[in-house]
Amino acid sequence: MANIILLGPPGAGKGTQAKRLEETRGMVQLSTGDMLREARTSGTEMGRKVAEVMDRGQLVTDEIVIGLIEEKLTRGAAGGFIFDGFPRTLPQADALQSLLARMGQGLDAVIEMRVDDAALVARITGRFTCGACGAVYHDATKPTAVEGTCDACGSHDLRRRADDTEDALKTRLMEYYKKTSPLIGYYWAKGKLVSVDGLAEMDHVSEAIAKILDKA
Ligand code: ADP
Ligand code: ZN
Repeated sequence: MANIILLGPPGAGKGTQAKRLEETRGMVQLSTGDMLREARTSGTEMGRKVAEVMDRGQLVTDEIVIGLIEEKLTRGAAGGFIFDGFPRTLPQADALQSLLARMGQGLDAVIEMRVDDAALVARITGRFTCGACGAVYHDATKPTAVEGTCDACGSHDLRRRADDTEDALKTRLMEYYKKTSPLIGYYWAKGKLVSVDGLAEMDHVSEAIAKILDKA
């Protein structure tokens, strides 16, 4: 069993790798981005505020995301947790440490996925997903076989995220460099940081992560 963090800028491929780890290792993905997207459809005042902040590309408050994570952590995970998109700030990192300590657990590895900015912009601005099954596509590198139809499940419910525009992405990258990238030094100092090349082919990235987990 291992608890790991996938750390990296938007579009680094954290979600894709997390999904694979769920399938291959029985780990549980905790994506604050997915939780917040769920919260915004709730129709509450909190949901409406979260939607506004997310669509601009800014970070939601630490209180909200820490609360969401705390709720999910209490359920436990036999194969361990994959934190995807959390922590994104130093206060979130401290909160995670206390929450895990309270459960008698710790972090086994923090995996930094390195990707350069030009690649991120290209990846994100062409991205769309299937609303029914979650499959991820890209206009240039992975279009659907039949336009408007999901290859995996046949659904026509193909969606683009409201924050996958060039403007919102600029803000997301700036938020990443200002608030999240200091976590790289923080976890390096704790002796937890391992880096992988996020620009490699998806299968190679998975192999690199598997090797890290086998040692953890
Ligand atoms: P990506 O990593 O591709 O930008 P995510 O789905 O992880 O996308 O997050 C989307 C948005 O959700 C972020 O831009 C931010 O507004 C919000 N968000 C997600 N996780 C956090 C977090 N840990 N702290 C603050 N805001 C968050
Ligand atoms: Zn589908």
